[in-house]
Amino acid sequence: MATRRRTASTRAGMKPGMKPDVHPGVHYRVEVLDVTRHLFQVTLSVPRPQATQVLELPVWIPGSYLVREFARHVHRISAQQGKRPCTLTQVNKCSWSVQAQEDTPLTVTLLVHAHDASVRTAWLDAQRGFFNGTSLFLRVQGYTHLPHTLEVVAPADLPDWHLATGLSALQVDRRGFGTYSAANYDELADCPVELGAFWRGEFRACGSDYQFVVAGATPSFDGARLLADTQRIVEAEVRLWHGKGRAPHSRYVFMLWAVSDGYGGLEHRNSTALICKREDLPQQGVKTASEGYVTLLGLISHEYFHTWNVKRLRPVQLAEIDYQRENMTSLLWFFEGFTSYYDDLLVCRSGLMDAARYLKRLNKTLNQVLQTPGRQVQSVAQASFEAWTKYYRPDDNSPNITVSYYTKGALVALCLDLSLRQQGHSLDDVMRALWKRCAAGPMSEDDLLTVLHELTGTSWQRQIQAWVHSTAELPLQALLQAHGVQVHDDASQWAQRLGIRATESQGIQIKTVLHGGLAQRAGLCAGDEWLGVEVPGPRGKAATTWRLTRLDDVPLYAGQAPRVTALVSRDRRVLRIPLDLKGAEQVKTWRLAIQDAQAVQRWLQA
Ligand SMILES: [Zn+2]
Repeated sequence: MATRRRTASTRAGMKPGMKPDVHPGVHYRVEVLDVTRHLFQVTLSVPRPQATQVLELPVWIPGSYLVREFARHVHRISAQQGKRPCTLTQVNKCSWSVQAQEDTPLTVTLLVHAHDASVRTAWLDAQRGFFNGTSLFLRVQGYTHLPHTLEVVAPADLPDWHLATGLSALQVDRRGFGTYSAANYDELADCPVELGAFWRGEFRACGSDYQFVVAGATPSFDGARLLADTQRIVEAEVRLWHGKGRAPHSRYVFMLWAVSDGYGGLEHRNSTALICKREDLPQQGVKTASEGYVTLLGLISHEYFHTWNVKRLRPVQLAEIDYQRENMTSLLWFFEGFTSYYDDLLVCRSGLMDAARYLKRLNKTLNQVLQTPGRQVQSVAQASFEAWTKYYRPDDNSPNITVSYYTKGALVALCLDLSLRQQGHSLDDVMRALWKRCAAGPMSEDDLLTVLHELTGTSWQRQIQAWVHSTAELPLQALLQAHGVQVHDDASQWAQRLGIRATESQGIQIKTVLHGGLAQRAGLCAGDEWLGVEVPGPRGKAATTWRLTRLDDVPLYAGQAPRVTALVSRDRRVLRIPLDLKGAEQVKTWRLAIQDAQAVQRWLQA
């Protein structure tokens, strides 16, 4: 892919020899300025600026619903026309205006600090470079709908570096450095760029070309296996949406950064940026799939599924992206939740995860939702709408007042799929019908209701209202049992029995006190360090005080005692807090077990 060459005169719709249309579109030149200071230099050229030319840097990146104000990473910015400096004024937190002479080319130079180890912004060090357009490229007001070009300069002192991106190459060298084109700002911003001496592999599936690049891998990394497994997932997804047809892109790029600790992914129309733990990559000579590797396959499956579900089929509120403020929608339960339902399901359907493993992972999602008191406070539609202020800005009280539109949304998808299957249909039929009805574009909740009605001949208003817009319990148990899965009640871990979430690596640090739990009734607080327990002696004997380092040790010291005293440190004071343990045994967790293997296979395999 990196060697692909195309010149402007052979672009679609142009006869050889014709001059390309001279458009007043904008051009960006990106240079690796300083790897030790993590600085990219971006030079923006506007051929015919306005007299007062407004330039804006996005405050968020589509797919990650938080205002991040990328302008805070701008190190320096200046503007000039020829050799004449222009007056450049910062208008607000993310916009500048330049006083320019119209019809004289304007050049704006900015330095951007790039040292965020995530898929959402930009990174530059001696090993690797990465950037999203939303971090580096100012939007030129009045010109964003016009074609944009990007030139990435090969760093002279880094001869091993290559470039990977989903952008169309106009003229590039064998390493991929050179000029790329985009139809408009949206397309430019939606194509992140990976730079470095990365591992590269390619495959072809269902009529499209795929490139996979991996940065940060060790020599034991089994690239052939990652390619083969990704290909199976890709084929399962294209088949789901299009049967024997083709994916809505001719080319797709997976960009994965393997690090010592990290996880995440961000979807784009014809590429995705991923982060995983280095130890989760497949290793040469190891045939089994570790839990970490299966999680990575789930991530690949998830981000690729977004190619259809959110990047094309998308909330009506995101039909046009406003880069300067929050774009709120109540539909993330559909776009993130349903994608989460399908991610592991399609890994399973590809033959890369068996039914037992699939159910174990589903079991974990179920318990996460059931152990979140916020599910009785917030619906998934509300959770979607408030993603910007709640899901993406969690604090110690979040589990009490919010529910995840990822996990509960996945369970809504599960309930819908299993209900439809009882009537001889499936959620696959619904997804395909939505794709057709919405012409692979903006979608509303009414479209979903219409498709469900057309498919089954009955209204689904009542179910969607209850599952999506209320906090009523989902009919999970009955539906799972109807598809061959038995639900058992097991004893919970002690953290759950006590109603807290805590870390135990450096003493017991309480992170959250759950509403309605024993810890809350006793008066324990988020921020407390739980030091020990004092347990009364039998028949009036002296009490014994124990140092506590694991919550699951509570029964070891407390025995049958119905009441203990918790010793906690709060703001350096040591407090003695009476704690009632009665009722702890009644807190249960779900365990799924296969009862009818054939019924489970019918659900999972088609
Ligand atoms: Zn997602």
